[in-house]
Amino acid sequence: MSPLPAVHAVLAAPGTQALLAQYGRDDTVAALREALDSFRQAGRQAGIEAVLASAGAILEYRHRPRVRPVFNLTGTVLHTNLGRAPLPAEAVAAATAAMTGAIPLEFDLGRAKRGDRDDLVEDWLCRLTGAEAATVVNNNAGAVLLMLHALAAKAEVVVSRGELVEIGGAFRIPEVMARAQARLREVGTTNRTHLRDFEAAIGPKTAALMKVHTSNYAVVGFTAQPPEAELARLAHDHGLPFLVDLGAGSLVDMERWGLPHEPTPRETLAAGADLVCFSGDKLLGGPQTGIIVGRKDLVARIKKNPLKRALRMDKIRLAALEAVLKLYADPDSLAQRLPTLRLLTRPADAIAAMGRQVLPAIERSMDGKARVALEPCHSQIGSGALPVDLLPSWAIVLRPPLGTKSEGRALDQLAAAWRGLPVPVVGRIADGALWFDLRCLEDHAPFLAQLADLP
Ligand SMILES: *Cc1c(COP(=O)(O)O)cnc(C)c1O
Repeated sequence: MSPLPAVHAVLAAPGTQALLAQYGRDDTVAALREALDSFRQAGRQAGIEAVLASAGAILEYRHRPRVRPVFNLTGTVLHTNLGRAPLPAEAVAAATAAMTGAIPLEFDLGRAKRGDRDDLVEDWLCRLTGAEAATVVNNNAGAVLLMLHALAAKAEVVVSRGELVEIGGAFRIPEVMARAQARLREVGTTNRTHLRDFEAAIGPKTAALMKVHTSNYAVVGFTAQPPEAELARLAHDHGLPFLVDLGAGSLVDMERWGLPHEPTPRETLAAGADLVCFSGDKLLGGPQTGIIVGRKDLVARIKKNPLKRALRMDKIRLAALEAVLKLYADPDSLAQRLPTLRLLTRPADAIAAMGRQVLPAIERSMDGKARVALEPCHSQIGSGALPVDLLPSWAIVLRPPLGTKSEGRALDQLAAAWRGLPVPVVGRIADGALWFDLRCLEDHAPFLAQLADLP
């Protein structure tokens, strides 16, 4: 008797039907061969059942979704690597409807004519920012690229040396400018730039003055940047547009909820900016998008640029964006209905209460493997917004047992075990401990339900 069954024999076995139905014939056959090979190489015998079990495990691993929920307990609410803003139920419903069927994406239902996809959200954006016109693209990096290419290709854009920022992920203002074929004219110094620096740089080749919000760092101490209103006036005196990349771009004043002030597109336009661009999935709390608002003639030029077509938004995110913008019509309910704002404004007391709820179960699951405590910590807003301001929060803190020799390795292993859960738990390692900031844990049941799976 052969020590291993033949592929066709396993394929014919009744137990294989479930695999075939779930994964299809090609993948199932490939997995059966792989399972048989590994038994053969190990010199082991196996019956049909064992081969099926092994193939099933291979298939399950291979088909496991890579896009799946995780618990973001990093303490950074808008975590770029974890997908930034969680969307409100209204946006999920709108996106689902758009995904599953046809929508009037570029179709004017009133006149049965071809329409413009920007029309789906332009009214809301204008109302919420006071702008004359608006357009949306894939993300804010795309918005900056498009704005510069449409208005300043082969010409100069004057920017302060204090604002030549790198956002991360290879987004650097000087490099984006080069890709947009705009020539960067840097003025001033890292810490201080004056209106006269801008004025001296304006010449026949100048296409625009630009301000970049220094989202992810703060220049403190002996610093100076001209106020936006003065830059706007200077630009307009020379017949030039004043462009502002706001980055995070909150649509409402965050101070209303006790959060630090972040400039809004409305304020920036009121100060005289001709165009303002900002992200949709940072403080705005919506889907990934880049929004450009401002003067109608400039927006019209942007819409005509071929890059607009290359960077355009898809129907799913447009649907989600419209639903999120509608929530801003009632700012009083925003902190409840918009998850980003709800998480950012979550009181430390409520987070501590969540901590007391989950602490005993975590202590039991970590029995001997870690020392567990509930301790105060600080969350960050993330995505470069308000970098120096931290939000008081509470964290479950795991430390390797006393006397552990290689604490660093023990911590890494601990963190890996939590990341290996069915819904991976992602924390932050700092000060010799693994921190689970509970700010973004709103429902503890699914979190606790999987603790039994910890090794
Ligand atoms: C985040 C940010 C960007 C890039 O926005 P994305 O939406 O991530 O593409 C550009 N400029 C500034 C100032 C930013 O903060």
